[in-house]
Amino acid sequence: MKILVTGGAGFIGSAVVRYIIENTQDSVINIDKLTYAGNLESLECVSNDERYTFEQVDICNRTELDRVFATHQPDAVMHLAAESHVDRSITGPAEFIQTNIVGTYNLLEAAREYWNTLTNTVKEAFRFHHISTDEVYGDLPHPDEQEGDLPLFTEQTSYSPSSPYSASKASSDHLVRAWLRTYGFPTIVTNCSNNYGPYHFPEKLIPLVILNALEGKELPIYGKGDQIRDWLYVEDHARALYKVVTEGKVGETYNIGGHNEKQNIEVVEAICSILDTLVPKGSPYSELITYVADRPGHDRRYAIDSSKMSAELNWTPVETFETGLRKTVQWYLDNQTWCQNVQDGSYQRERLGEINMTAKGK
Ligand code: NAD
Repeated sequence: MKILVTGGAGFIGSAVVRYIIENTQDSVINIDKLTYAGNLESLECVSNDERYTFEQVDICNRTELDRVFATHQPDAVMHLAAESHVDRSITGPAEFIQTNIVGTYNLLEAAREYWNTLTNTVKEAFRFHHISTDEVYGDLPHPDEQEGDLPLFTEQTSYSPSSPYSASKASSDHLVRAWLRTYGFPTIVTNCSNNYGPYHFPEKLIPLVILNALEGKELPIYGKGDQIRDWLYVEDHARALYKVVTEGKVGETYNIGGHNEKQNIEVVEAICSILDTLVPKGSPYSELITYVADRPGHDRRYAIDSSKMSAELNWTPVETFETGLRKTVQWYLDNQTWCQNVQDGSYQRERLGEINMTAKGK
């Protein structure tokens, strides 16, 4: 297969590209705008492979998309390109509307026009796989609000996004499903929980905490740190995505999760204790933990029921939270140059996503 991956220079996209090149016979055409979050250094291990091609393309540019489809004639699209950071969406939602909604619309239209030119057999085998998030479902009851078994997100859970990021992803999911229903365009959607692992841009919780700790800086915890996320190691996600694009059923949605519900504070304490062992500094790293004002609109709990993925596609995560986190911390210790190179001077791990309510008289 020739797979067109969008956003392949980002955190999850680069894991998908590395997975395909290193574990299958398929070819990859990676199109990426290379925003602050896209880094070709994450793809150095595959960049010389003859089955790998990169083109710097913005998915909002329809002319360029048409050229890419005509030139490379892909058999499938895996769409990961997006603005992905909730805090950035709070301070600057415009880019999220543009890339996540308008960009997805452009890609759907370019892909559909190309698909219409294919012969029947190729057309039937074509897949458009849209990669989305569990944040589209909003949040779930938290253990301090409800006793007993708590609900999980299933493929039937209603959409109720809370942030500009999750609302833009929800919009793009709706577009993708509408293209299936209206045009018969062969789409599949996956909604995944929080990923962690190597090559994660240091604005997100886990890499930010590792790098701040190593530099003796404060480890900021939003609110009480009791928000719960279901953590999945990125390589487990990449393997799941490849299974979906090759074996998933057209028109279906698959929820992907790690069975690892953890409070943010537990995640930060776990990183501190791994660092205490690997890079002891005389006093515990947890002394650097500092509580800061919560994120506006912060969802309290996400958790995924991924039983459909295991029953229908025989996928389960390989890493536990403990093994995956240890690997991740070790990777950041071993790859300090990557960390320095991706922080280009315009972002120094400062707090993002605060809003000044009083400035607008609210
Ligand atoms: P990321 O921010 O690390 O990477 C996004 C990539 O998209 C970057 O390489 C960036 O350069 C590229 N991009 C942005 N705008 C573009 C545009 N207009 N045209 C072309 N390329 C563009 O994001 P990620 O964490 O790798 O997430 C990938 C996808 O998976 C996103 O769609 C996200 O919503 C989804 N997702 C992420 C998580 C998570 O925990 N990170 C969980 C579930 C789903």
